[in-house]
Amino acid sequence: MKIHEYQAKEILAKYGVAVPKGEMANTPEEAAAVARKLFAEGANGVVVKAQIHAGGRGKGGGVKVAKNRDEAETHVKNILGMQLVTHQTGPAGQKVQRLLIEETAAIDRELYLGIVLDRATGKLVYMASQAGGMEIEEVAAKTPEAIFKEAIDPAVGFGAWQARKLAFALGLKPTQINAAVAFLQSLYKAFMDTDASLIEINPFITTKDDKLFALDAKITFDDNALFRHADIKALRDTAEEDPLEVEASKYALNYIKLDGTIACMVNGAGLAMATMDIIQYAGGSPANFLDVGGGATQEQIEHAFEILLSDAHVKAIFINIFGGILRVDRLATGVVAAAKKLNVKVPIVLRLEGTNVEEGRKILAESGLNFQVGATMKEAAELVVAAAKGVK
Ligand code: GDP
Ligand code: MN
Repeated sequence: MKIHEYQAKEILAKYGVAVPKGEMANTPEEAAAVARKLFAEGANGVVVKAQIHAGGRGKGGGVKVAKNRDEAETHVKNILGMQLVTHQTGPAGQKVQRLLIEETAAIDRELYLGIVLDRATGKLVYMASQAGGMEIEEVAAKTPEAIFKEAIDPAVGFGAWQARKLAFALGLKPTQINAAVAFLQSLYKAFMDTDASLIEINPFITTKDDKLFALDAKITFDDNALFRHADIKALRDTAEEDPLEVEASKYALNYIKLDGTIACMVNGAGLAMATMDIIQYAGGSPANFLDVGGGATQEQIEHAFEILLSDAHVKAIFINIFGGILRVDRLATGVVAAAKKLNVKVPIVLRLEGTNVEEGRKILAESGLNFQVGATMKEAAELVVAAAKGVK
């Protein structure tokens, strides 16, 4: 689960991570009030920051510095409600519905800090770089030696010696080292306590008066651990997510929208991947990834159908099920019920194997509906690609 920058900063502040003074605003009036307050309290400038679940906002025009209240109000007017396009949003962009108004900092250096899980080694990796403020993906691709890494032993945790090593690698002044070590350790503690899967501070800045701040903050949480963090779960902003994915998550369906024309309903993530591959191989393109899970209920299958059909790009549906825990006859009953209830117009191709497959095929054949059944996965994929192209 992703959260906004202002939420990430609120969490980090609780762990003693220094963040600039500021507040979130939903309306131009709220934003103006925050700016007024910050100037009244002595700020030399404020920065108006679009809050969306994507990075690269600065380049896209979603981060603007203002020297006075008038400038701040102009930036607020321009940014709030804009369709912000960044390299992470895709061409359609994301509508800005919230702002963060913060006191500006007198930036000396822009550095980078990140903690992520390295799946290859099964360890967290603490990353630091002097090349902050820019796209870290680009730094990693062009000058990987500019990123320093410390692997964290899960049994030992992040050692103070490692924090010192990274602080020195960042080229910090002797007067900044102790504060940097504390900063790095606080960040690690926040990561562990919240069951995060990623924390990124880009830029992590030093100021002209020798202070350190998290100028930007990104935290992603492990969905599997959210059950034990009700406070974090409450930070979810579904306005930032794909509406169909939000709908799917209500029914515990693993759904990811893609941009093809063939909707897939599959049980098991591995089979879902293979299904997408074979659709491509047969010359089609999948409209989604959908894993209904091993023990899908008839109700879940109905909801899955509704979600697949809400995607206007869908031209055909491919149901590829291996009946294990989910018996094929139960699936077939669910499919028939859903297809009748929802008055499905697009062609449906199925490939069924496993427990009670004969009963399942019979239910489909006797339904009076026009299903095509492929004998093998390959044949079914070819049938569905042809159906999506309007060719029988
Ligand atoms: P991102 O583009 O989505 O990663 O947004 P950031 O929060 O990282 O902001 C982008 C850039 O705006 C930063 O790298 C800074 O250069 C600049 N910026 C952000 N806040 C301030 C600020 O308070 N003062 C100044 N001078 N620049 C800022
Ligand atoms: Mn950033």
